[in-house]
Amino acid sequence: MMDFSLTSEQKMVRDMVRRFAEQELEPNMEEWDEAEAFAPWVFDRMAEQGILGHCLPTRYGGGGMDYITLGLVCEELERIDTSFRVVMSVHIGLCSFGILQWGTEEQKQKYLTPLAKGEKLGTFGMTEPNAGSDVAAIETVAERKGDEYILNGEKMWISLADTADTFVVIARTDPTAGHRGISAFIVERDMPGFESEEIHGKMGIRAGDTGSFTMQDCRVPAENLLGEEGEGFKVGMSCLDGGRYTVAAGAVGLIRACLETSKKYSMERETFGKPIAEHQLVQQMIARMARDEEVTRLLVYKAGWLKNEGVRNTRETSLAKWYGCDAAFRAAEDAVQIHGAYGYSNEYPVERYLRNSKGAVIYEGSAEIQTLLQASYALGMRKDKPLRCELPGWPFEE
Ligand SMILES: Cc1cc2nc3c(=O)[nH]c(=O)nc-3n(C[C@H](O)[C@H](O)[C@H](O)COP(=O)(O)OP(=O)(O)OC[C@H]3O[C@@H](n4cnc5c(N)ncnc54)[C@H](O)[C@@H]3O)c2cc1C
Repeated sequence: MMDFSLTSEQKMVRDMVRRFAEQELEPNMEEWDEAEAFAPWVFDRMAEQGILGHCLPTRYGGGGMDYITLGLVCEELERIDTSFRVVMSVHIGLCSFGILQWGTEEQKQKYLTPLAKGEKLGTFGMTEPNAGSDVAAIETVAERKGDEYILNGEKMWISLADTADTFVVIARTDPTAGHRGISAFIVERDMPGFESEEIHGKMGIRAGDTGSFTMQDCRVPAENLLGEEGEGFKVGMSCLDGGRYTVAAGAVGLIRACLETSKKYSMERETFGKPIAEHQLVQQMIARMARDEEVTRLLVYKAGWLKNEGVRNTRETSLAKWYGCDAAFRAAEDAVQIHGAYGYSNEYPVERYLRNSKGAVIYEGSAEIQTLLQASYALGMRKDKPLRCELPGWPFEE
């Protein structure tokens, strides 16, 4: 049996996040985007309402909701601005899910609980100045000395780099072993040798903190190794299964925002004696947005359902992310087109949607990387094997 209906709890969370985003975020968006800043109270409000932990197990202080609910939260946040969905991507999708999947019970108690309660913010540091898509090229090193690892290196283009407390960091423990010589660590901001900096001048997601951090002889206790030594590539890639899901779900919200704004404008604006909504070429753009909202949502629901079932979903999540982000970029471009010269100015939010939408075509595996991944599945060149640790399905064990 197939059931696309939402439960009353899912609807309740969705409506609560929608109200929060419309009432507390939207009125500030223009100002925050312009100033490349956001107010820290947003995180406090997100924490208060449980948004930062809805979809984590109650035994670690979360709300115990399922992966579809997480998708709905991301959709509602990105409908207003991508910056706030990015918070969910790094805090939940990449960092918290990474610890939930690979962490020891002690690590989960120590790190996941404050993340789930929204007392701490988490993120994920893989990208470096000289290594993005090619993860095996990372240069950050982690050297074991007694009961510590000493980390040295720089991470760049990291969301919440200057704000987060808890970092899942990917580093090299064996310089001779390629992707098998990579390990993952849980690093805290206040560990000695850790420093971060904001990056300014981004095209979009300007209300979000993106930055870099350096680790100089940063001493990390050996018990903060996430997974086993040499397992970091797998840890990093499986974190991306969580992150990409939130990005894809956010894309549904961005397409929806483009469609809502374009519908309204096209019914008000007249050319040649009638609303532009009556011109077939404008209708074509509207129809494409309606189609892509629906298709992306279906792809997200499929990936979310697989996550609930506890079934490996790397292929389906990549497909949702790839399709959804391309579609959101196209929807934003069309939304600007429909608004004509007004769309080219900040009088309407569509130019912000366009700037925001480009980021997701690049991060969490660029469109080219997703294309390669999908080709390798389609050609039978890639088959996923079960991992030593899988992200738990839903309902979570309490
Ligand atoms: C706003 C923002 C937030 C981010 N947040 C984070 C974060 O929180 N944590 C984190 O670790 N990273 C983060 N990133 C980094 C992001 O994941 C990387 O930018 C991304 O993986 C691409 O790496 P790169 O920029 O180094 O591009 P490169 O890897 O240098 O690629 C450049 C271009 O070449 C293409 N290319 C590369 N290899 C191939 C190939 N084999 N075949 C075809 N084309 C190829 C790419 O698709 C791209 O178009 C963020 C980036 C942005 C913009």
